[in-house]
Amino acid sequence: MQDLTVIPTSNAALPDAAVALQHWISGQWLDSADGATSERRSPAHGVSVSVAAKGGKPEAEAAIAAARAAFDAGGWPRSSGKDRAALLLKVADLIDRDREMIARHEVLESGKPITQAMAEIEGAADLWRYAAALARTLHGDSHNSLGPDMLGLVLKEPIGVVSLICPWNFPFLIVSQKLPFALAAGCTAVVKPSEMTPGTTVMLGKLLEEAGLPQGVANIVLGYGDPVGEILSTDPRVDMVSFTGSTGVGKRISAAASATLKKVSLELGGKNPQVIFPDADLDQAADAIAFGVYFNAGECCNSGSRIIVHADVAEALTDRVVALSRKVPFGDPLDPRTQVGAIISSEHLAKIDGYVQDAVAAGARLALGGAALEVGGLGAQFYQPTIVTDVTPDMPIACEEVFGPVLSVLTFTSFDEAIALANGAAYGLSAGVWSRDVSTCLDFARRVQAGTVWTNTWMDGFSELPFGGFKQSGQGRELGRYGIEEFLEVKTVQMRIGATRGAWVA
Ligand code: NAD
Repeated sequence: MQDLTVIPTSNAALPDAAVALQHWISGQWLDSADGATSERRSPAHGVSVSVAAKGGKPEAEAAIAAARAAFDAGGWPRSSGKDRAALLLKVADLIDRDREMIARHEVLESGKPITQAMAEIEGAADLWRYAAALARTLHGDSHNSLGPDMLGLVLKEPIGVVSLICPWNFPFLIVSQKLPFALAAGCTAVVKPSEMTPGTTVMLGKLLEEAGLPQGVANIVLGYGDPVGEILSTDPRVDMVSFTGSTGVGKRISAAASATLKKVSLELGGKNPQVIFPDADLDQAADAIAFGVYFNAGECCNSGSRIIVHADVAEALTDRVVALSRKVPFGDPLDPRTQVGAIISSEHLAKIDGYVQDAVAAGARLALGGAALEVGGLGAQFYQPTIVTDVTPDMPIACEEVFGPVLSVLTFTSFDEAIALANGAAYGLSAGVWSRDVSTCLDFARRVQAGTVWTNTWMDGFSELPFGGFKQSGQGRELGRYGIEEFLEVKTVQMRIGATRGAWVA
């Protein structure tokens, strides 16, 4: 062991039996018509956590039909912002009430540490409250300067039935970046959680039911991309697909949705650079780099997975990050001291390790880690904190999403070179800059191709600020006012008032 901080099993009580999870369609809790199920085992503890109904064509189509009927004939799209907000606020309170139960299940299905799961659930409740505020402040425009006989109105209307397809890395947070905003806009929805983490989305469905959301306004179908996700992306009764997940699947969804020209919003992967200039506070930067790469075991779209550091301070910075990395507690996610938990699956762990071994074979050097991590009493579905130096921009580890606790270190000597390296990946989700000179920070912020830029910090997040990607990190935005605008259609109304219009035919 490389002198790492490992938290062995806490021997916390584990579930005696798996939770049974059903679809929620038109207000009914249902198994699949063919009885198919899929089991999820805890990646850290190996125990069976949930057995979920595995949806197929009948369930996906029934959920779409329910959402369509609720949109076309139900009251929700026509309800007042005040009433929608009241319901969203109630859901937020219920999330707060149940946060410990939800967080624990999130840990068991995803392997993330309990303290971070709690923070995720609390952040999600805030999103429901923020969306409630948007529901009450939603408005269009009026045009009173079109001449004495005309008045122009721009109405904002809900876009219709939306499919919300979510990944496994922040299951409860990401559904909460979508669903309350869609509901605030007056849309109806079909939600598909990842097949690996369905549990907390089902818990959310129970809270929506308790809060009194009308039947069919939100529906949940459990299952895989094939066929459920594909049907949600192609069915002509769906008006929009909002997807968070990998860039590869995002491209497939975009292609599938094009046949019916559905609106598509995509929150995809990232290869997010942090650029460190020689005048940076290296202690602050090193801590943020450790946070950026190990948070959620690096299984994070915002993972700060590559640093681009000035050659003059590269060694000093790398030494600091290595020293901090040894102190980060990896291990049992049910122990509150743990900051990095298990990897989502053994297949994904092998993929992470493959990137590291390929880089080493191509001439990169391991400053720390580089192998699976054995955690006492829990097995080895964990990965060591890993720092890879002497990385060149053409190596896959430098330009592809590793999605693990693996940091690539590249160096630069001029500002232009730093920008070229930062913008060199196909992604453009987020980027960071470290310098005490505000001009350097601003110049970087304006030239880097990324949807979010952090200066002298990393991965702060606010419900008020929009989030999304440039280039192959996606299209559209979530959060902030933009988060509700995505789910709105714009209708122009041109009204002649007073005088009759001049005759066209003489
Ligand atoms: P994934 O693309 O494998 O799966 C995401 C969802 O899509 C799952 O629900 C899956 O069942 C479904 N799906 C799979 N194939 C489909 C298809 N053909 N049609 C429709 N749906 C399909 O992603 P993942 O492994 O669950 O999540 C990790 C990825 O998500 C990473 O790339 C990460 O960067 C990205 N992500 C992005 C953000 C962001 O906001 N930009 C946030 C979190 C995660």
